[in-house]
Amino acid sequence: MGNRQSAMDNRNMPSPLWLNGAVLPMSDARIGIEDRGFQFADGVYEVIRLYAGRPYTLSPHLHRLARSAADIGIPLPMPIDRLAQEILAFIPKSDVGEGMIYLQLTRGVAPRNHVFPPAAEIRPTLLFYARPLPPIPPVGQGTPVKLSTQPDDRWRRCWIKSTALLANVLAKNAAVESGADEAVFLDPLDNTVSECSASNLFAVIDGVLITHPVGPKVLPGITREEIFAAAAVLDIKTVERPLTLDQAQAADELFISSTTREIATVSHWDNSPLPTVHGPLTTALHANLKERVRRDTER
Ligand code: PMP
Repeated sequence: MGNRQSAMDNRNMPSPLWLNGAVLPMSDARIGIEDRGFQFADGVYEVIRLYAGRPYTLSPHLHRLARSAADIGIPLPMPIDRLAQEILAFIPKSDVGEGMIYLQLTRGVAPRNHVFPPAAEIRPTLLFYARPLPPIPPVGQGTPVKLSTQPDDRWRRCWIKSTALLANVLAKNAAVESGADEAVFLDPLDNTVSECSASNLFAVIDGVLITHPVGPKVLPGITREEIFAAAAVLDIKTVERPLTLDQAQAADELFISSTTREIATVSHWDNSPLPTVHGPLTTALHANLKERVRRDTER
């Protein structure tokens, strides 16, 4: 009875939140009105997938957080290892098995001013919480996604995982309005595509796995890295280069990747069906990724 009873007790508890070192019900949490995250989107974030209550690639996510924070001059309030321990200790309190950790770090609260306050006068706001997500379907059984081309109105520091996501949000909503699931960003200057509003984009052309280099227009996705590792094991050649819209749409296989989706194949682009869904290399890469997840998160 013990486990079942405690699971039920947890279910009735309000959703817990870790905020600056304290765990409290999310509904009781208070963030200052002049938090720079709220007023300027002056912050960075991470999304970490949980499988049966265990985080996958926690360390790469926290290292990316540290890089994002360093690039905009926000100090991490604690060393990465301590933060990892705090997250691991928090997960059982959340009662989330299949789901994600959302983590956000902002510069903190100060009287509103574009200019940063002196470091001694501001303390970063760090918070995280867990949310349940539906389990990711087995390889080849997920519903393929439909893409919609959208202009890239984002800033040119997309390697930083910034909470300033308005351009992504608007693009995604325009995509959904057009009947698609995800927006692909197009640079009209050279007609190349970079990534999607919340995922990286991969193509397979003549047996080669191609994706845009990370940098000004592309986030260094953690799943993207895992896919490169899988490709190395499977002896699949990889190339990092931009693809034109035409090249991408004519690819032999096409998929998107993210922490919350793993790998999702693409069936439509701008309302036109694509020839190959669930292609062989995509299938092999996804199977290898699933194996990595299993190895890493199995008790
Ligand atoms: N690009 C963008 C713009 C994203 O928001 C995401 C998801 N956070 C990704 C790529 C995929 O990154 P990851 O594999 O780390 O989830």
